[in-house]
Amino acid sequence: MAAEKPNVTPMMAQFLEIKSRHRDALLFYRMGDFYEMFFDDAIAAAEALDIALTKRGKHAGDDIPMCGVPVHAAEGYFHTLIRKGFRVAVCEQLESPAEAKKRGAKSVVKRDVVRLVTPGTLTEDSLLEARRHNFLAAYAEVREEGALAWVDISTGAFHVMPCPLVRLAPELARLAPSELIVSEGSAANWAELVPDFEASTTPLSRSSFDSTSAKKRLQDLFQVSSLDAYATFGLAEISAMGAIIDYLEITQKGKLPLVRPPHRENIGGAMQIDAATRRNLEITHALSGGREDSLIAAMDRTLTAAGGRLLERRLSSPSRDVNLIHQRLDAVEFAVSNRQVSEALREVLRKVPDMERSLSRLGLERAGPRDLTAIRNGLSQALEVSKSLSSIDIPELFEQNISLLQGHGATIDLLDRALVAEPPLLARDGGFVAEGYSAELDECRTLRDQGRGVIASLQTQYAEQTGIQSLKIKHNNVLGYFIETTAAHADKMLSAPLNESFIHRQTTANQVRFTTLELSELETKIHNAGGRALEIEKHIFTELSQAVLTQAPHIAEASKSLAEIDLTTSLADLALHENWARPNVDSGRAFDIQGGRHPVVERALRKQGNSQFVANDCDLTDGKDGAAIWLLTGPNMAGKSTFLRQNALIALIAQMGSFVPATSAHIGIVSQLFSRVGASDDLARGRSTFMVEMVETAAILNQADDRALVILDEIGRGTATYDGLSIAWATLEHLHDVNKSRALFATHYHEMTALSDKLEGADNATVSVKEWDGDVIFLHEVIKGKADRSYGVQVAKLAGLPSLVVDRARIVLEALEKGQSETKTSPKAVIDDLPLFSATPAPLPTKVETRPSIVNEKLAEILPDELTPREALQLLYELKSLA
Ligand code: ADP
Repeated sequence: MAAEKPNVTPMMAQFLEIKSRHRDALLFYRMGDFYEMFFDDAIAAAEALDIALTKRGKHAGDDIPMCGVPVHAAEGYFHTLIRKGFRVAVCEQLESPAEAKKRGAKSVVKRDVVRLVTPGTLTEDSLLEARRHNFLAAYAEVREEGALAWVDISTGAFHVMPCPLVRLAPELARLAPSELIVSEGSAANWAELVPDFEASTTPLSRSSFDSTSAKKRLQDLFQVSSLDAYATFGLAEISAMGAIIDYLEITQKGKLPLVRPPHRENIGGAMQIDAATRRNLEITHALSGGREDSLIAAMDRTLTAAGGRLLERRLSSPSRDVNLIHQRLDAVEFAVSNRQVSEALREVLRKVPDMERSLSRLGLERAGPRDLTAIRNGLSQALEVSKSLSSIDIPELFEQNISLLQGHGATIDLLDRALVAEPPLLARDGGFVAEGYSAELDECRTLRDQGRGVIASLQTQYAEQTGIQSLKIKHNNVLGYFIETTAAHADKMLSAPLNESFIHRQTTANQVRFTTLELSELETKIHNAGGRALEIEKHIFTELSQAVLTQAPHIAEASKSLAEIDLTTSLADLALHENWARPNVDSGRAFDIQGGRHPVVERALRKQGNSQFVANDCDLTDGKDGAAIWLLTGPNMAGKSTFLRQNALIALIAQMGSFVPATSAHIGIVSQLFSRVGASDDLARGRSTFMVEMVETAAILNQADDRALVILDEIGRGTATYDGLSIAWATLEHLHDVNKSRALFATHYHEMTALSDKLEGADNATVSVKEWDGDVIFLHEVIKGKADRSYGVQVAKLAGLPSLVVDRARIVLEALEKGQSETKTSPKAVIDDLPLFSATPAPLPTKVETRPSIVNEKLAEILPDELTPREALQLLYELKSLA
């Protein structure tokens, strides 16, 4: 290459060749202690990382833009680049410059990409959140069948499920993978299909998805002759799993991480919760973006990172399996009733490190000595946990896990003997192997340390010999060991007789440096012994890693069991301290919550310390097969949204296998959970707020069945009053007649309360308030019946609207109410009649003029109870055109 293009240096030729294979990534090209970037990569990286852009040499007559980052700080830069949507190709030196020289004076050091850093393939602790999974997912379609596979390479967890295209968006919302692989050839428009999916989507060649080669790839990886050993997978599932493994091979350059055998998930196994509902209920993220103020933050009392991740998984996919839920609840109840055992377990769990992530780094050869001690400490604690559970009668869930915690004696013993208590971070620095483990290592270390001792005595000897008391023996990487005196003593040292034994090495501004024959010899000895010791330690590190990796599947199982026990005891701790109760979950259609609370709002109120959360009941059990709906009215700020959400959350919490924030709860399995809030701003996604509201409502009406729990909050408020009312009206009727769901429906259209007379399964409820001296006091108590009025003006006053505006609003309202009740006059006529806004509160109009209206006449003819929703809508349009 260099011969054809004389302008291109051999190094640049190498760079261009490697870059040509990694066009879609920023190439981090290793040069000594730095990663350098060139050309467009440099321009993009300099801007993204806010580092200096410089130049280096010329290419085709132009300057080559360049920037660089030190290797030791690279992780932080990866983090920034990944977050900004880049991928990074890490190109390392594969030999030392000395080795390259042996091939010829002008040879360039061999380099190649050893790893592609992408959002879904991170393993470094500093790049990951300890308590969150980092999933890489792949979606495949084979012969009209779809499947989704996902892996967390930082823990090895590998899952797959059949997934028709329509289920893709909610499943992605549940898993929240940081990267999704799709087939390059797939015609689907991803942005449209999964509009809520904000993670990076990586197209991969069709061949990676080929199910025949995928099958072989998977069989080779798991060393089985048939995948049937794990489950019966469809072709699409095999294709999706195969694509993931192929992508791992591509990004990890052949060094495959530890991937556990695939676990097949059943699409009907989990409560279905779509993206909008997840956002709305703030399950793992608050609407404000962070974790704080989310449900998970209010519930997380886990003590281990793996336990925290398990909690996130469970909350993201509550179960629909009554037996499984009971089994989990039994375990929590056991921990609640055996408080001492549970607290002793938690003391042990506190010391359990993140074994899953350490194992994964060991598998990818990215581990350090602390990963080995993490395994040692984790397994020792696992043994402790199993001991404390061995002598008591434990529930089934613990029974299943306890045996997995045992049988690691040999690994613990090996690591115990081999490793010091608190090793350094990096293997290359040495110092992590314990004394007594390797006789050869001990010998080298003694030699090295003795040498250091001799140096200390040499310094005393030289000081005496020269008469320079301030003389020191020091060490640096360039000169090695040297003798240093201040410049003032230079002449003495440089002349006879001292110059015979002290050889001058260097003069700096204030110091003069020397060596002696004796010192150089000693240095070589120390250096050799130290170097040999490091080599032995490196070798031992590899041996220990191998020993651990052969046990990887068992260690992973132990870690999983610890996470399960951690989660169970943490939920028990929560139940005890927060006064949560065991829910009664069955396969019926009950929904009866007594004394329910919203865990996040309750916690926030407690933090503010100003008021107590008012517990509320909710009974949607009607004993019949039809719908059971509560129509909730009440002023703004009364607590309608809180009540709606707390009931949805209680169902979710119960089905993940936890006690719930209520005095009692009877819940028939909820298969789908829907929650919508009227017209929240969604400008970011470029859809009108009302459109979003309607699209989301449509999704519910099309999907909800008689096992669904539906929460609708102020649906229809995003448009004109009559439009909104009619849509809300028709929606409620549909939910009642067609979907037959259990539902809570909050609205400020008081007109809708009339529906409860018409619909058998609908009931009115309201959040009570007290009026006091013109002000409104919120009691936050949900009672049967309807709200008498909206108290909007009072709420506006509370919000601090200028008193002039509040007074004026009160006058307008009174006139309107009076006008409507007495004369059936149109609002416009009433308002037209009011005196103009004036600085002093205007007196009430003494006379309200009545005008004959065609609209009123038309209205008088209507019999609402006999109208179908469609006719009602049609009529509304007609009326509107008359007004
Ligand atoms: P709405 O939906 O009726 O406008 P919210 O549910 O948003 O009202 O509640 C408004 C505020 O009232 C909440 O932020 C909370 O501080 C308080 N609140 C709601 N429900 C309760 C309750 N049950 N007990 C105590 N305070 C409550």
